[in-house]
Amino acid sequence: MHIAIDGPAGAGKSTIAKALAKRLGLTYLDTGAMYRAVGLKALRLGLELSDGAALKAMLQGTILRVERGKNGLDQRLFLDGEDVGSAIRSREVSLAASAVSAQRVVREWLVAMQQEIAKGQNIVMDGRDIGTKVLPQAEFKFFLTADDGIRAARRHLELREKGENIALETVLSELRRRDLQDSTRAESPLVRAEGATVVDSGDLTIDEVVELLLALMGRR
Ligand code: C5P
Repeated sequence: MHIAIDGPAGAGKSTIAKALAKRLGLTYLDTGAMYRAVGLKALRLGLELSDGAALKAMLQGTILRVERGKNGLDQRLFLDGEDVGSAIRSREVSLAASAVSAQRVVREWLVAMQQEIAKGQNIVMDGRDIGTKVLPQAEFKFFLTADDGIRAARRHLELREKGENIALETVLSELRRRDLQDSTRAESPLVRAEGATVVDSGDLTIDEVVELLLALMGRR
């Protein structure tokens, strides 16, 4: 079984996809983390993030490895052998991931890897192009969204919990910038896939969204 969950930043995709995978005993793959790893390396090398040729050369010398715990849920990501699990979570890397993800060479590289991972596995994947490009044949497709003010407030809280005190307005403007970039790019823009059910997570708790998705899948 393949389940695709797409949507804008901060809609709760990763948390919900992971909870759903746990309930159904499926593997979970966070594809955003993979774009973040590419963004992180490009930032470290000081590359122009829109330079497709430079990114291509960089990827030729890059080894990205996704390791999963026994439960199939906890994902560890190794960039050239380094565990980059926390390094990829900064705001700077969020924006860099969005910039590099607009480049075809980056998308081709990661989509191939993601499709390879999905082969012969029951999996829930979350991202921006799962229902449209990575798993177009997925049995279930969801487009998870929420008002941008709500999404920014959630991100703001997450950052505060990590000890980062950034103004809510800054979080909101960075989130809007990323949404705009992701939904207007030429390569696999963020759109609702055909057949995807739109779920607004704005007024719902995580558990409520998970229950709703299970009900929509006829699993409850
Ligand atoms: O989901 P997350 O916020 O971690 O993703 C970081 C960035 O990676 C997104 O803003 C988007 O530009 C890109 N991305 C993508 N396609 C995916 C997953 C993420 O373009 N399937």
